[in-house]
Amino acid sequence: MKRNVVTFSYTLRDPAGRVLDTSVGGEPITFLEGAGQVIDGLDEQLRGLAAGTLSILQVPAAKAYGEREESQVQRLPREQIPVEGALKIGDRFQTDTDRYAPVVTVVAVDDETVTLDANHPLAGVDLTFEVEVIAVRPATEDELTHGHAHGADGDEHCS
Ligand SMILES: [Zn+2]
Repeated sequence: MKRNVVTFSYTLRDPAGRVLDTSVGGEPITFLEGAGQVIDGLDEQLRGLAAGTLSILQVPAAKAYGEREESQVQRLPREQIPVEGALKIGDRFQTDTDRYAPVVTVVAVDDETVTLDANHPLAGVDLTFEVEVIAVRPATEDELTHGHAHGADGDEHCS
C-alpha cells in the first residue's frame, strides 16, 4: 500500500471556538500516514489532500483524545500522593518519576483525600482543526520500515 508523508500546519479550537493550540509561527507537523503519529481523525481526514489545501476538519472526541472514562477518576488518601506541599484544584503532575508516567489533574481536595483525574485534558472534547497542507510526498523505504516520518524532506536522522 502506498503511504505518504504529510507536512501540515494547524490551529486547534475547542467547540466554543477558543484556540487550544497552534503550529502557526512555529514548526509545522510532519507525519507518516497510518503510523499513529497524529490523532486518528487527522490521519484519516488529511489523506488525499494536496499540498496547498486549506481546510477545516471536524474531529470527534472518539477520533481525537477519546471519550472521558469515569474509571480514570480516583480518590486517594493524601499521603499516597507523591507531591510535597499544598495541592489545589487544577494542579497537574505526573504519577511517577518516569517521563512517560500518566499526567493527572487534581479535581477535588479535602483534609484527608485528593481526587485525581487521569483522563487526557482533551478527552471527551470534539476538536476543530484549521489546517494547511504544506507538502505531501511518498514515504521512503526507511520511513516505512521505521514506522515514522524522517522530517519534511525525509533526510532527518532518527535515534
Ligand atoms: Zn526512523
